Amino acid sequence: MAKQPELISIVLPVFNEAAGIENTIDTLENFTNNQPQRFELIFVDDGSSDNSAELITQSQEYHQNIKLVQFSRNFGHQLAITAGIRYASGEAVVVMDADLQDPPAVIVDMIAKWHEGFDVVYGKRVSRDGESWFKKVTAAIFYRSLKKITSIQIPVDTGDFRLMDRQVVRELNKMDEPDPFVRGMVSWVGFKQTAVDYERQERIAGYSKYPLKKMMRLAMDGITSFSAFPLQLANWTGGLAIVFSFGYLIFSLFTHLGSNQLMIFALFLMTGIILLFLGMIGAYLFRIFEASRKRPLYIVAKTSGFQAASSKVLP
Ligand code: UDP
Ligand code: MG
Repeated sequence: MAKQPELISIVLPVFNEAAGIENTIDTLENFTNNQPQRFELIFVDDGSSDNSAELITQSQEYHQNIKLVQFSRNFGHQLAITAGIRYASGEAVVVMDADLQDPPAVIVDMIAKWHEGFDVVYGKRVSRDGESWFKKVTAAIFYRSLKKITSIQIPVDTGDFRLMDRQVVRELNKMDEPDPFVRGMVSWVGFKQTAVDYERQERIAGYSKYPLKKMMRLAMDGITSFSAFPLQLANWTGGLAIVFSFGYLIFSLFTHLGSNQLMIFALFLMTGIILLFLGMIGAYLFRIFEASRKRPLYIVAKTSGFQAASSKVLP
């Protein structure tokens, strides 16, 4: 019997994407039908309040390879990816946005690199169309700072668009981190990793589900789960302040430059620094708290499309 072509899973997190989801499905079906591999599309509906899930369910009538995991509420992009990867059964798993910002054609390059022997092929954004300068600048600063302060090599300018070998997915699936920072976890896992360049497209429809607040949360999750740098910074700043205060004491013994304004300034500055670091420590503490509660990472309300046509006899 001829060997079956490889199965590749594409995981797509979906949050209120009704405006463009049909277009995404059509584009991906057209793309995958022209490839030598077999593909399954795993949509994870992250508690959409529009009819994204209905549209995906309807498309299952025409496309056998569409699978849907529905969360009981919005758990966030990173957890939607986490769940999608766990439900994937392909020999390689691709993660991409459901808004076609990540062009499907790049998957061909990713597969080629995978065949060359790489276990992780991540998409590196050489340009970002249709995104505000604010997002571009903050993202550029964030990725570069994160690289400086973490001990693992998280590549700059990459999102979650990537292909991972089954071996990597198996390791990822063992990690049960609340508030996961998936791209960091993939770097942490190791194996042979490489990049393919691509131009990030404009959204086909709808609007970004990543407002500033969510972006900041993601950034904090990235920092607190991969670096203790902010805590070390607290030590250094404290040490510096002590040295400075003694210097100041000696200085004022010789001169009589007593100034109330200066005192008040110093008081505010020090209180500010202390509160800032208390907050930072709190962020780490909260991670420990979250992990200690041992709640499930997400709740799946419903799945569909996972049984193959031949196994309909299952109860
Ligand atoms: N998304 C999600 N849950 C959320 C926010 C976003 O599943 O809470 C999905 C969203 O539908 C999209 C992907 O994650 O497929 C990336 O989000 P988005 O495109 O809004 O982010 P951006 O590309 O603007 O950074
Ligand atoms: Mg997007």
